[in-house]
Amino acid sequence: MYDIIVVGGGHAGIEAALAAANMGAKTALFTLDINKVAMMPCNPSIGGPAKGIVVREIESLGGQMGKIADKTALQYKMLNSSKGPGVQCLRVQSDKIEYSKAVKEELLKADNLEVVNALVKGFIVEDSIMKGIILENDEKIYAKKVILTSGTYMSSVTMISHETKNSGPEGLPTTNGLSNALRDMGIELFRLKTGTPARLKTSTIDFSKTTLQPGDIKPLNFSRFTKENDIIQEQIPCYLTYTNEKTHELIHDNLEFSSMYSGVVTGVGARYCPSIEDKVVRFADKERHQLFLEPETKEFDTTYLQGLSTSLPKAIQEAMLKTIPGLENAQILKYAYAIEYDALNPLQLHPT
Ligand SMILES: Cc1cc2nc3c(=O)[nH]c(=O)nc-3n(C[C@H](O)[C@H](O)[C@H](O)COP(=O)(O)OP(=O)(O)OC[C@H]3O[C@@H](n4cnc5c(N)ncnc54)[C@H](O)[C@@H]3O)c2cc1C
Repeated sequence: MYDIIVVGGGHAGIEAALAAANMGAKTALFTLDINKVAMMPCNPSIGGPAKGIVVREIESLGGQMGKIADKTALQYKMLNSSKGPGVQCLRVQSDKIEYSKAVKEELLKADNLEVVNALVKGFIVEDSIMKGIILENDEKIYAKKVILTSGTYMSSVTMISHETKNSGPEGLPTTNGLSNALRDMGIELFRLKTGTPARLKTSTIDFSKTTLQPGDIKPLNFSRFTKENDIIQEQIPCYLTYTNEKTHELIHDNLEFSSMYSGVVTGVGARYCPSIEDKVVRFADKERHQLFLEPETKEFDTTYLQGLSTSLPKAIQEAMLKTIPGLENAQILKYAYAIEYDALNPLQLHPT
């Protein structure tokens, strides 16, 4: 019997598990793979508008995000620095592999915390009270409280054009079990969607046709525990390129093959993070859209193509790159895709 069980080792789950353990509660974190904790399935950036404040709030509550973002930073940028202080916000591009490793280290050294690799498929509920969890092998584990932080993995479906797969991000498993168990408890679920752009092989990009976007010369850090000397000295730059009329024509001609536009996706976005199809249709008068080429990690030769999130077919994704300066010969390592998943209506949360 645990005091607290946390289901899901994403950013929310690891903070919840560490906070509970630090407060002396006997805690267990159940997650799909301890080597993939605090994964960044989209852009490995921390902070930015709205979310930068959340990072600092997490730190005020004793959390890890700010410290680990600083420790694994590749580039710092104060956004909106030409505007007033009210809208300025810090954003760090983190090394996604190092971030996950650093989180794993924190989890393994924490007292009162056990981390278990397992898929949770249901809950033990008695008299409308959550008593524990049920694992894929039907094992039952009891706890005084259960915290569910399963992110984008509940009944999730990934999509590239009309190809759909029952899968979590990065090919990790999904389960309908949690959704069904929550519905049985009378909890209302709805579908959310999001998407991610392709990852490119960095060495195949011609950066000479793009514009350098260096990090801040005097970067500010996220965590008050990070000393000035600990801030990375050599930042990795980002680069800027643009779509153009040829890219837009290709997108318009193939809209019917986009999961987002052909009715395959039914969910709504959790936040405003439009696909390139959306941008080209909604802002038809724009001749070009910005695309930032951003580093993901020092460990692999990969670049994140911010601004070109899409669910168009693989062949169209390849053709789009051929129209973009610097990306004409770029090799796609991972294709862009959309994902749809179950979420809980937060208006159902009540103090208990
Ligand atoms: C393609 C894509 C694009 C995205 N784009 C953005 C974006 O642009 N901006 C943004 O802010 N966010 C984006 N997100 C969402 C991003 O993943 C979340 O903001 C962030 O990861 C949320 O953290 P979390 O802890 O809530 O969940 P997650 O990071 O999703 O973590 C969930 C954890 O739960 C575990 N888990 C799930 N189900 C089970 C189970 N049944 N049993 C055991 N363990 C389980 C998983 O292994 C994982 O460790 C995107 C996600 C995807 C997949």
